[in-house]
Amino acid sequence: MTDSPDNEPGYIELIQKLVPVVSEQENADLRQYFEFYEGCRKELTEEAEILFAGHPVFGEMIRQVPREERNKQNEYSVALQRNAILHGDWKTYTEYTVQQGFFYARLGLEFKLWYEVIQAARQMLLPHIMKELKQNPAKAFAVINGINKLIDVAMCITGEAYIYEKKRVIDDQIRQQKNMNAELEQFAYIASHDLQEPLRTLTGFVDLFCKQYSNRLDETGEKYMAYITDAVNRMRSLITGLLEYSRIGKSSQIKEVDCNKLVGQLIRDLDTAIREKNAQVTVAKLPVVRAYEVELSALFQNLILNALKFSKKNSQPVIHIGGGDGRKDWLFYVEDNGIGIDPKFHENIFKLYQRLHSREEYPGSGIGLTHCKKIAELHGGHIWVESAPGEGSKFYFTITKT
Ligand code: ADP
Repeated sequence: MTDSPDNEPGYIELIQKLVPVVSEQENADLRQYFEFYEGCRKELTEEAEILFAGHPVFGEMIRQVPREERNKQNEYSVALQRNAILHGDWKTYTEYTVQQGFFYARLGLEFKLWYEVIQAARQMLLPHIMKELKQNPAKAFAVINGINKLIDVAMCITGEAYIYEKKRVIDDQIRQQKNMNAELEQFAYIASHDLQEPLRTLTGFVDLFCKQYSNRLDETGEKYMAYITDAVNRMRSLITGLLEYSRIGKSSQIKEVDCNKLVGQLIRDLDTAIREKNAQVTVAKLPVVRAYEVELSALFQNLILNALKFSKKNSQPVIHIGGGDGRKDWLFYVEDNGIGIDPKFHENIFKLYQRLHSREEYPGSGIGLTHCKKIAELHGGHIWVESAPGEGSKFYFTITKT
């Protein structure tokens, strides 16, 4: 992430946009204010020290900066005000105030705190103005107008800078995330693609070996061979899974998909698995959406197969598939009455190779839900689960309407 946005193209425009326009009347009021402020500045600085010393955020920040340094900073900021108000150099003032907004944003402070500072400044000035009001009301009103103008200017600049910096950091993170994802996909593709070749050789020779030598193996040899075959098969499923993962959304085109037809076909394809489990599968009316058909089908398939696989022993699996129409998204769900998932794993299960059971208990490679997540995100949506151990699971995913 870039630490300073000052060299970025948008920064110059930001400053240009924020340099305030001050009318002659406003400038006259600002001068009155500044003269007044200089008169009571020493007292105000001392009051501010006391006031902010007990503040939950600023108190600590003040204590961390030595008094001398604080005085220097204060002098500098007053000099900038002076230059702006008396000599019209609002640009330097704007640049400095923009940096303050950035500082706030980077500290992760809420902008509301800035209002507290302004509010406190007003409170401190009030008794001094009241005094002035008695002696010279016309000047007091000019001072009030001047203060208001300066606060408007400072608020506007700090606020805009705060938003700019927050957005810049978020954009930066998104860009980084995208780069990382692209690199990861590239890596997954290359690794899985290149691993296929030695895997094919391995599989070929294991097959040949089994055919030609199996009758010559003793019991231990057969056991070892079974382990080897099992490991090769597992490796194939991991590598194929990874390759499929890196290919999601690469080749196909987005198009209109009738989800009733898509899920109907899927259930016919999965007929054997459904029968084997004696499962009851029902499907509510589903929408027609714009989507990557093959990927969407894979998403439903993964969820349905998981719902079948993670069913409770000795009870009939009941699976319900449905959907709904949100404002910006289509919402789908696949609900089962299976073994359920502890809430502390609800996020982890979507990560690559994360499984909650041994392969002996439930076969699998821990890639299915990672695919589902990528496919939902490919459609501008997301995926999550509501579940508790022993209470079944309801997997939801969304697809952005395009
Ligand atoms: P796999 O099914 O190959 O293990 P997945 O990525 O599809 O990999 O799922 C990851 C883990 O999430 C599973 O190992 C399982 O523990 C849990 N899980 C997924 N779907 C369900 C479900 N419907 N009910 C209970 N647990 C589930």
